[in-house]
Amino acid sequence: MERKEQRIKIAVQKSGRLTEHSIDLLQRCGLKFTRSKDQLFCYGENMPVDLLLMRDDDIPQLVADDICDLGICGLNVVEEKRIKLSANGAAPGLKQVFELDFGHCRLSLAAPEGTRFDGARSLENKRIATSYVNILGDYLKRNGINAEVVYFSGAVEITPKLGKADYICDLVSTGSTLAANGLTEVETLLDSEAIVIQTQAPLGAQKQALVDRILQRLDGVLQVRESKYIMLHAPRSALADIQALLPGTEAPTVLPLEGTADRVAVHAVCRENVFWETLENLKAAGASSLLVLPVEKMLV
Ligand code: ATP
Ligand code: ZN
Repeated sequence: MERKEQRIKIAVQKSGRLTEHSIDLLQRCGLKFTRSKDQLFCYGENMPVDLLLMRDDDIPQLVADDICDLGICGLNVVEEKRIKLSANGAAPGLKQVFELDFGHCRLSLAAPEGTRFDGARSLENKRIATSYVNILGDYLKRNGINAEVVYFSGAVEITPKLGKADYICDLVSTGSTLAANGLTEVETLLDSEAIVIQTQAPLGAQKQALVDRILQRLDGVLQVRESKYIMLHAPRSALADIQALLPGTEAPTVLPLEGTADRVAVHAVCRENVFWETLENLKAAGASSLLVLPVEKMLV
């Protein structure tokens, strides 16, 4: 019997705010891709892992339906899908595996400047324009509010000016688009960032092992992002103080220094960024010859 090659597919946004970060992250996991001409499919050159380039809103469904094994998209689109499915009594079919610390934004309610807002009750009988009808609908339901929700797929921020809505519910990052349209943010419904999602469909053992390998590499890349390797010399008597000052470290390696009985070298991986203030405090505690190096890869 001919054996079908087991390849996994990862869905990423085709063209938008998440695209560059998503592809960069996967490349840092050691994956190499050839971009095809229409760019909907990128063949994995060095591992059986391919990319599907899609609209971000379609990614949760592709992963839930097991067309893709993994996906990178905003929590906002995943929540929108999850609420829609659970309203119909269906399970989401996917799970969140990592938060990626890019694509930060919030789904907020905004109103024309000067609008008096006293919490959800101010929305009673109002008209609200949004692309996020499910998240907004859920918020209104939880607060027992009757309001008219009107769906717009884009340019939601101009609807109040056009007399089509009293409020909008849209994604905001800096707030400059709102300000340019004479709107102010009145309430946040969801804080969002890019996340990795994984299908809940059972995979064969071979595919599962491949997915686990990619997830382990992703974990490694995410862990080293802030991590630093720090090296210093210190008197043995100052070790306890110095260890307390090292940000986010487990037990450091302590090595004797040739020719001195009471001075040692301390090496440690710090899981947080090391700022100048920390180095100054370490020096004040007796450390010298301080070196801070970036960590490229980590496998724990
Ligand atoms: P497409 O549907 O064609 O993939 P889009 O217009 O929906 O594109 P983008 O504007 O690129 O998508 O936004 C993609 C994601 O980036 C959003 O779903 C959200 O998670 C995140 N994001 C971060 N900041 C913002 C922002 N200020 N406005 C919109 N989305 C933002
Ligand atoms: Zn979209």
